[in-house]
Amino acid sequence: MRFVLLLLATLALAAHPALAQDAGGRSKSYALVIANGRAIDPETGLDAVRWIGIQDGRIAAISATPLEGAQVLDAAGLVIAPGFIDLHSHGQQLAGARMQAFDGVTTALELEAGALPVASTYEQVAKEGRPINYGFSANWLFARIAEKEGMEPDGSPSFFARAQSRSNWQHALASPVKTARIVARVEQGLKEGALGIGVLAGYAPGFGHKEFYALAKLAKTYDVPTFTHVRFMSVIEPQSSFEAFEEIVSLAATTGAHMHIAHLNSNSTRDIPAIAELLRGARARGVPVTTEAYPYAAGSTVVGAEMFRGNWRERLGGAAASDIELAGKPFDDATLADAQEKTPGAIVVVHYMRPETSPADQAFLDEAVLFPGGAIASDAMPWLLDGKTIGGDTWPLPAGAYSHPRSAGTFSRFLRDYVRERGKIDLREALGKVSLIPAQILEDSVPAMKLKGRLKVGADADIVVFDPAAVSDRATYTAPNATSVGMKFVIVNGTPVIREGELVRDALPGLPVRRPVVAH
Ligand SMILES: [Zn+2]
Repeated sequence: MRFVLLLLATLALAAHPALAQDAGGRSKSYALVIANGRAIDPETGLDAVRWIGIQDGRIAAISATPLEGAQVLDAAGLVIAPGFIDLHSHGQQLAGARMQAFDGVTTALELEAGALPVASTYEQVAKEGRPINYGFSANWLFARIAEKEGMEPDGSPSFFARAQSRSNWQHALASPVKTARIVARVEQGLKEGALGIGVLAGYAPGFGHKEFYALAKLAKTYDVPTFTHVRFMSVIEPQSSFEAFEEIVSLAATTGAHMHIAHLNSNSTRDIPAIAELLRGARARGVPVTTEAYPYAAGSTVVGAEMFRGNWRERLGGAAASDIELAGKPFDDATLADAQEKTPGAIVVVHYMRPETSPADQAFLDEAVLFPGGAIASDAMPWLLDGKTIGGDTWPLPAGAYSHPRSAGTFSRFLRDYVRERGKIDLREALGKVSLIPAQILEDSVPAMKLKGRLKVGADADIVVFDPAAVSDRATYTAPNATSVGMKFVIVNGTPVIREGELVRDALPGLPVRRPVVAH
C-alpha cells in the first residue's frame, strides 16, 4: 500500500511539472514566489505568463507552470517587470526613497550632483537604512566650492544652499594649481567607490573648458562616466543649450570618456529637435554619449541659480516670472528679485514649456522623453517642510511637504501618459527605458548593474508587480505630496517593500551600488 501511494505521488509529480525539482529530483520551494503574472523582460523580449521563484535575494527560477514558495504573491492579471532604475535622484532621504518605491523605483542613484565626501555618505545612508538600493557619483561642484571658497563639504544637505550666497565658484576660472586640487578631490571620491563624476556645469557656467577636459580625462582613466547638467540653458546663441551639448560631444569624442547628459527635456528648452539631432549624430558615429529625460515640462532648482539672471526670459524662449513658483505660488518681478537676494537657496519650480496648452511644446517634450536609447530618470528633489529637508524616519510625509511632483510620480506618469493614455510607446519598450537602458548605461563601469534591469535567472530580485490599467502618478505642482498608485508589489533584493499597494515600513532591504574601494 505504501509503495502504491509513493507510486501515485511520483506519477502526480510527473504529471504536474508545476513543482520545480532540484538536482536530487526533490521538489523545491522558494523563499518567495510571484505567481501567475504577465512577465516582461526588456532584454530577451519575454512577454508571457510566468511564476518567478526568488531565493537569497536573486531570481532563482522563471517557470511557465506554478512554483511553490514559503510566501506566494498573487500577480494574476498584473505585469511583472524588472524594478525601475533611477539614474538621477537627489531625494536621497528615507522619505524620498519611500515615495520613489511607490513609483516602482528599486534603485535610486544620485549621479548628476553626486556626493562629497563619498565614503562617509555611503556609510551614513547604510546606517539609516533604505527600502531601495542607492549610490553616488563624486560631486565635482562641491570640490570646486571647497577650493574656490574654502568651504569644506560636510555631507550636510544645507551645504549647497549655503554656497549660493558666494559666487567665485560659479563664475571664476581656477588656476592650473587649483584645477589640479579640484580634480584630486574628485579622484579621491572615485577611490572611495563613487560610480562616476557628477558635473553640475550649469551651476558654475564660468568654469574653464580645460577644467572640464581634465574631469573627462579622469573619467576615462577610471573608466567611469561623467553625469552632466550642461553649462548653458538657452535657445539664444552664444552660450546656448546647443553649444553646451556640443561641448559634451566634443569632450567624449576627444577623451573617449563615456559622458552621460542629464535631463535632455529641461536643459534643451524649446531647442530639443536640434539638440536631439546632435546627439543622434554623435551616437551614430560611436561617440560615447548617453542621455535621459523626465516626463514633465517644469524643472526645479534654487531661485538663486544662474539661469534666472540677466536676460533669462529670452534665453528660456519667452519665460515669465510667473513661470517660476515657490511652494505653488508664482512670482512677479519684484518678489523674484527679493527672493534671489534674501533666500537664494530656496527651491522653486520653473515651467519652461507649457504642453498643457501648446501642442508644439508637447511635441518637444515627447521627443526628449522618447529619445532612442535614452533612459527615463526623475531628477527627484528632496522633500521639504518650511524650506528644510525632511530627514529621519518621517512617514507619512506631513501635510505641506513640498517637492517637484517628479519626486513622486515620474515613472508612473510615463507609463500612464506615454503608454496607456497616448500610446506613444508600447509597454515592453517603455519598460526598457526605465530598467534595462539605465542598467546598461552603467554596467561597463559598474558590473553589478548587469544583474539589474533584467528578469532572468541569476539577476537581483528587484521586481515590480503592477496593474497596467491603473498605474498612475497623483502628484501635481500644487499638491506634490501624493504617492503614485498601481504598484501592487515592489520587491527589493527579494524583500517586498510595497505589499498590496501599501508601504512595508520596517522593510529596509536596499543595498549600496558602489565600485570597489581603492586602498590608500
Ligand atoms: Zn540638473
